[in-house]
Amino acid sequence: MSGSTPGAPRLLVVEDEPKVARALTEGLEAEGYAVTTAHTGEDGFFLASSRGFDLLILDLSLPGRDGLEVLGALRQKGFLTPVLILTARDAVEDRVSGLDHGADDYMVKPFAFPELLARVRALVRRGRGDQLLRLTAGDLVLDVVSRKVVRGGRDIALTPREFELLEYLLRHHGTIVSREMLARDVWNETERGTPLDNVIDVHVGRLRKKVDAAGARRLIHTMRGVGFVVREDKA
Ligand code: CA
Repeated sequence: MSGSTPGAPRLLVVEDEPKVARALTEGLEAEGYAVTTAHTGEDGFFLASSRGFDLLILDLSLPGRDGLEVLGALRQKGFLTPVLILTARDAVEDRVSGLDHGADDYMVKPFAFPELLARVRALVRRGRGDQLLRLTAGDLVLDVVSRKVVRGGRDIALTPREFELLEYLLRHHGTIVSREMLARDVWNETERGTPLDNVIDVHVGRLRKKVDAAGARRLIHTMRGVGFVVREDKA
């Protein structure tokens, strides 16, 4: 990853043929992308589910778990990253079912590198635009436009206040939010000393019940005497 700069778009390339994988990685790194490579569907699935990427470039014909299986499983668990699939020349059906499984675009092998670059650029741009409207933490996704909240593929029904509270916590993902901030920015209560702390605690409690009951890991944490933080726990 020599050429990549901080904030460079992160790409995951899942390709089992070493020559193709190397050519892709070198070419994309030369364009300033941060590239991670996986050589099996299993590894690709693991990396895609555990780390954040701006784009997944996925070869369909992989040993073991093939590209379509990986793609289907990822989309099913709420994976929203754009996916560009790579497919063999005559596998028309693969392309169609790739799009059915949630791919955003495809390239037919062998392809011209500049053409791949153009697709990559477009998909990364699109993905980054969407990210501003979609807030995530682990397997939790909040869609600002449709006002839907999904965790691990399941919808979570929230009241308008709970939604605003979660949105605020997610916008501060990883940093501690004080009750004072919540009173000011979510309840629009500027007056100090208003007995709002209990109200806030009750709402956070309800929100946590709904959000954390829907997933294996706790996301909303109370920092005693300080406030709250949304954070993915290791276990
Ligand atoms: Ca292959």
